[in-house]
Amino acid sequence: MEEPLAPSLTPVQEKTLAVMRRGDEPVVFDQGFVTELIAEATQAVAEFSGRLGGETLWVSKSFLSKVHGCEVLHMQPDDFEWRPASAAGFVAHKAIELALNWRGEVAPAQIVDEALARLADQADTRGSFVAGLSDADWAELRSRAVDRTTKFLQDFPPLPLSAQPVLEAAAKWRPPGTIEMSGKVDLQIGKPFGRESRLLIVDFKSGNRSHHHREDLRFYAVVQTLRQSVPPRKLVTYYLDYAESEVEDVTHGTLQAGLTRALAGIEKHIELKIEGRPPVKRPGFACRWCPLNNECIEGMAFLNRDLADSDVVDVDE
Ligand code: SF4
Repeated sequence: MEEPLAPSLTPVQEKTLAVMRRGDEPVVFDQGFVTELIAEATQAVAEFSGRLGGETLWVSKSFLSKVHGCEVLHMQPDDFEWRPASAAGFVAHKAIELALNWRGEVAPAQIVDEALARLADQADTRGSFVAGLSDADWAELRSRAVDRTTKFLQDFPPLPLSAQPVLEAAAKWRPPGTIEMSGKVDLQIGKPFGRESRLLIVDFKSGNRSHHHREDLRFYAVVQTLRQSVPPRKLVTYYLDYAESEVEDVTHGTLQAGLTRALAGIEKHIELKIEGRPPVKRPGFACRWCPLNNECIEGMAFLNRDLADSDVVDVDE
């Protein structure tokens, strides 16, 4: 009788696994550096909390991306609401979480349906969004989530449960004061091992590369370091459509850069919201969804140029 074939990795899975693997040498950060980083952050938060005058501030990757972008847009009320395009990520994550623990093989569409049903029962904003979808929005969300889940299950290396994978892993740090830093990443792999850095952090993206993706992960690495005193070892942005990864080793430099950017963002916010500095317009891709984009001259000029550039690309293609 023939032996069953051992499950083998596809070339794409092998390539991704190769860039994520731990090296032979354990990664251990200098404890003095980590202690100083935490002291710098703690002291800055205490000083900024005083300048906030009692206001509580939650600092996340989207907060930092907004405050470092167009300051006029940052000053607008936050009117975020889920849409099928933005919700596809959390539906796919739920589906993948179920797939990791499923007995036997499961089809992406089947697991996404199960994820949608469970999410609709959740008593939070995500649950109410899924439960209240129209038929057309439900179909769009399902289609997007199936696309992401399929690409993950087919192209990302299989995750053994012994690697302790956590989907939508959250990290929070709140020192004395009124500021909390919090981050959430799509996937965290690995478990603490004394002072050795073993955590691998992965964010999944559909669409194109952007420098923001690296900054998002650096911020998460900072929060994780502040709360655990042990930095993660590697940051991976995995592009689902391309089946490609962008990988960055965590170093003193990446952590210091991440903290400096976070503290600069908090200071900008205080200057604008509390101390009355006039906001600076910074036209960019955020103009596409800015509520002021039909009255802001700089934004309209940017969007016209953006449109003209896309026309050129379309003609060339
Ligand atoms: S349209 Fe663009 S430049 Fe104008 S306020 Fe909005 S984001 Fe800023």
